[in-house]
Amino acid sequence: EEGVRLQKVLAAAGVGSRRACEELIDQGRVSVDGKRVRTQGMRVDPEKAIIHVDGMRVASASDSVYLAVNKPQGVLSTMTDPEGRPNLGDLVEGRAQRLFHVGRLDAETEGLILLMNDGELAHRLTHPSYGVQKTYLAQVEGVIPRDLGRRLRQGIELEDGLARVDSFKMVDAVGRHALVEVVLHEGRKHIVRRLLAEAGFPVKRLVRTRFGPVSLGDQRPGKVRGLTREEIGSLY
Ligand code: URA
Repeated sequence: EEGVRLQKVLAAAGVGSRRACEELIDQGRVSVDGKRVRTQGMRVDPEKAIIHVDGMRVASASDSVYLAVNKPQGVLSTMTDPEGRPNLGDLVEGRAQRLFHVGRLDAETEGLILLMNDGELAHRLTHPSYGVQKTYLAQVEGVIPRDLGRRLRQGIELEDGLARVDSFKMVDAVGRHALVEVVLHEGRKHIVRRLLAEAGFPVKRLVRTRFGPVSLGDQRPGKVRGLTREEIGSLY
């Protein structure tokens, strides 16, 4: 038989459990391609069917979706985890689309990660040749000397080669603790932590506040928002 059972498509789109979706169908609250569904057992093409519940359009697996999430500390930058540890998939449960994350943050690092169902764009945005700039706020230990920005811009030798920042800014300093902002366009593992530690300033907390044209703003940890048209346009 062709197609997928309607209640399964509804459940995959996050409308509710399959049982709850069967009830919605029984109650006559679901329509497909403009016609009210009266009986169970209908099959639809999940990519093409235009489905409404109570007159509201249900997301289709083929709809484009671009999201910004603020990854909390302790959450893995994966969409699933075989060991059941907290991961990005938990933050976007119930979406119809298969989502890809754009790059990774360490489990301990917080902040902006983009999710999208365009896997090709997601991959391209993480490629070094694309050179997307990322901004991080780092809480570090130590008293920041005047020449740190210059040293970081010139580059510091790490075990896997030179690493450098595009810009460095001192945001705040209290005693032996400082908040600094770095902008860089590479994506080697633990790069900000390794770079600052090698420079003599171990990172205590790290937050990514910007990815290319997209800013985290005041989005709370764990929250998900859709990108604006302008943001989506400037990613391409
Ligand atoms: N640099 C790091 O050290 N950690 C991240 O998660 C991202 C950049």
